[in-house]
Amino acid sequence: MSHHWGYDSHNGPAHWHENFPIANGERQSPIDIKSKSAKYDSSLKPLSFSYDPSTARSIVNNGHSFNVEFDDSSDKSVLQGGALDGVYRLVQFHIHWGSCEGQGSEHTVDGVKYDAELHIVHWNTKYGKFAEAVKHPDGLAVIGIFMKVGHTKPEIQKVVDALNSIQTKGKQASFTNYDPTGLLPVSREYWTYPGSLTTPPLLECVVWHVLKEPITVSPEQMCKLRGLCFSAESEPVCHMVDNWRPCQPLKSREVRASFQCVCEEPLLLSTIQTFAMCALATSCLPGPLFSSALRLKCQLMKRERLSARQERGFIVGVGRGGGGGRLCVF
Ligand SMILES: [Zn+2]
Repeated sequence: MSHHWGYDSHNGPAHWHENFPIANGERQSPIDIKSKSAKYDSSLKPLSFSYDPSTARSIVNNGHSFNVEFDDSSDKSVLQGGALDGVYRLVQFHIHWGSCEGQGSEHTVDGVKYDAELHIVHWNTKYGKFAEAVKHPDGLAVIGIFMKVGHTKPEIQKVVDALNSIQTKGKQASFTNYDPTGLLPVSREYWTYPGSLTTPPLLECVVWHVLKEPITVSPEQMCKLRGLCFSAESEPVCHMVDNWRPCQPLKSREVRASFQCVCEEPLLLSTIQTFAMCALATSCLPGPLFSSALRLKCQLMKRERLSARQERGFIVGVGRGGGGGRLCVF
């Protein structure tokens, strides 16, 4: 293989083990999350995001993705809670995406790929610095957020606009006054498991939290991501697409869920039933009605089964959203 790793046939994920043997290790990422096998753990805490927009610094094309980088010299922007002990400092976020819709995410859910996946990276302050943290099994906390093409995400537009100035590998631009909280979905429910970086050096230092609810971005916003280049300015143009690693074996690990699955099996809702649930979803429901809606949904969902791929884009869960007891359909 060439010295530098990448996502091409000659230097892609299937070759990474040649220079990074840990690629075949015991806790590699990403993984396929099997929703029925994930174990609800009532001891898991809510994720607590506390970001200060003033810590945003720069945006960089590193030839594999782009990083939005933050000043991590103090505890101004931190993540706590979830499966974590202690305080984790925000250092950067980046995205993995596909060449077309239907692929692009690294984690998958019941075998289904999303169109992209956002990773928000934090390091454990008990280790003093990022470079030290990656040497420990609880060194990093990465939030994985699935993305699919749909409605515009206004909060990501500032990032998308900044891509114009970092089209090629090695380019960097100032990027300030930005709060990544705007990139989070309404629901903060998550799956968590011990894993690794998904790019070389593939270190097994990440406590993963993958959010259940995806965010959407518009086709135009996704298009701007695909317009970036793996290549440097002086090299032939090579568009940055399919910068995702395929799923790795779970091995002896367990995936825990912060939420209880309301139904036993993934099931199909007919079109009429879907409309009914969408109508419910937009209502503001007080407690008793919320419970009734959950029961109704369970009854509806017991009708028919769906394969994982067919399930894509359909309602797969119901839960309370971030505020006000609003019923949300994911
Ligand atoms: Zn990543």
